[in-house]
Amino acid sequence: MLDFLGNLERTHMCGDLRAANAGERVVLMGWVNRRRDHGNLIFLDVRDRSGIAQVVLDKELTPEGHLKGEQVRPEYVIAAVGKLRLRGPDAINPKMPTGEVELEATELRVLNDTKLAPFSPSEEAIQNEEVRLKHRYIDLRRIEMQRNFLLRHEITRAIRESLSDQGFLEIETPILCKSTPEGARDFLVPSRVHPGEFYALPQSPQIFKQILMISGFDRYFQIARCFRDEDQRADRQLEFTQVDLEMSFPRREHVFGVVERFCAAAWASAGVSLPTPFPRITYDEAIRQYGSDKPDLRLPGLTDVRSAFPEPAFETLQIDSALPIVALRIPGVGELSRKEREDNHPLFDHKKGAKFIDDFKRLAKSFPDTVTRIRELSGTAASDYLIVVAGDPAHHIKASDTKFEGRLSEREINVYSAAGNFRSELAKKYADRHKAFQVTDELVRNAEPRSGKMLDGSNAFHPIWIIDFPMFEYDLATANWVPAHHPFTAPHEADMANLVSDPASVRANCYDLAMNGLELGSGSIRIHRKDVQQVIFQSLGISDEEAHKRFGFFLDALEYGTPPHGGIALGLDRIVMLLAGAANLREVITFPKTAKAIDLMADAPTTVTEQQLRELHIRVMTKS
Ligand code: ASP
Repeated sequence: MLDFLGNLERTHMCGDLRAANAGERVVLMGWVNRRRDHGNLIFLDVRDRSGIAQVVLDKELTPEGHLKGEQVRPEYVIAAVGKLRLRGPDAINPKMPTGEVELEATELRVLNDTKLAPFSPSEEAIQNEEVRLKHRYIDLRRIEMQRNFLLRHEITRAIRESLSDQGFLEIETPILCKSTPEGARDFLVPSRVHPGEFYALPQSPQIFKQILMISGFDRYFQIARCFRDEDQRADRQLEFTQVDLEMSFPRREHVFGVVERFCAAAWASAGVSLPTPFPRITYDEAIRQYGSDKPDLRLPGLTDVRSAFPEPAFETLQIDSALPIVALRIPGVGELSRKEREDNHPLFDHKKGAKFIDDFKRLAKSFPDTVTRIRELSGTAASDYLIVVAGDPAHHIKASDTKFEGRLSEREINVYSAAGNFRSELAKKYADRHKAFQVTDELVRNAEPRSGKMLDGSNAFHPIWIIDFPMFEYDLATANWVPAHHPFTAPHEADMANLVSDPASVRANCYDLAMNGLELGSGSIRIHRKDVQQVIFQSLGISDEEAHKRFGFFLDALEYGTPPHGGIALGLDRIVMLLAGAANLREVITFPKTAKAIDLMADAPTTVTEQQLRELHIRVMTKS
């Protein structure tokens, strides 16, 4: 028989009980995390979102409560009433924050029972993620998950406060709207009222926030849900949350300042200090130094070791002399056998037209000085795992094909990024040996949101601004310049004159924020003049007609006194993931989709009724 709650009121949260509360009358409510039956004494670990406390049911003191205690099982919902007491010296549990005390119950109410769940929230690690997602309500009860969402709340609140304090207004924009320009596939919503017509879910509030600047709001932000129909990855979901902002009359430095302040506030809310200002690097330098536009600075970058190779080496080693030659090293890996090295070869992406050298004994036979020089240049220690990456002359596109004065060619970028990708794959694989990631893991494990305690995050988190991306990319297949960013991104004012005459040289006034190998966000100073917008559309091969069809309302708005403006959007889920020390976005999103884009709990997507389809003027064609 279950009990009613009646007029019982909770006095404390389980996790808050301390020695100082001893002697107080305490009413706890929560779930039975564990139950231990010692005959006349039954111990219940009771859990609520704040933590776990021990309740003792003594047959002498409460025969009725003890009897109920015999019947309760893990995950029953109970209320325990009694007096808090200090545990005896032998019974103190230093691993639990509440381990010095226990509730000596005088009454137990069983508020609800439970079906036997497929797993218990008290289990340390639950192996099967599908089961977790299907029964997400139970999974979310786990202490780690509760902690992740407390953290998420604190971070969101800190960002809201910081932006509000910086003069930003939180303004909502539509979810049912028109295709936006981020370039991913749209989710479409059929209109019942307008047969054959569709709304698109926003890939971001981009156009609306720009219009809010035209409307004079000056500083806007939104914790905005965005929808992109893309393949799922560990750091990508179909719907995700951005900290989206836009401001009028800014230089890029103003945007950086705003973001650095709210990031510092977010990190502080998690109990971690984050030094500002963040360093900056140009896109070209990021590619040269890390082979990536979202570099992880926790490990050494790439070194240019071209000067170590004498002329005859190119022929002998079959290396393209027109392309970069770089060394990468992973510290602390120690000597690897030939077999161990070969096991790593599949981690190298051969499609990028690059090759690598990892057998330095062999190289030393023909070019001993080269090996010495590579080690010197790259500062390689004896225990470092060293690899040289170079261009493969056998690749079908020659180095000169896409070379434009003053910028990296596609092939150069490919060689650098082959090295950069290899570097990050090996860094993951040998994390136990170089231990660079452990610094971050340990810090987030020890950090305590809300405690007022601040851990120094400067060695654990490495934010970096990537600036001066090229405005256009050359598309070999169509021999055309195509946009590298969404089409409202402004070029640098100094490069404006070259838009048509020399597109290769034009730098976009856009920026990315990367941290620990993750892209946290991107933004730009926007085009605010109709004439420039037209040139950009032209150079992107977007006709007037097409531009009007897609963004007509926005182009119209641009003609009505648009102030210079710019902004950025940061991935909130990714920020929380970093500070929670989670390996996957799903750990910080309440009800995420699987890699196959399914919500296992709600069972979405599903078919709908004929009637619904008819109303929406939709006929479904399935492959028979
Ligand atoms: N809307 C852009 C994005 O979602 C961000 C921005 O440019 O503000 O990537």
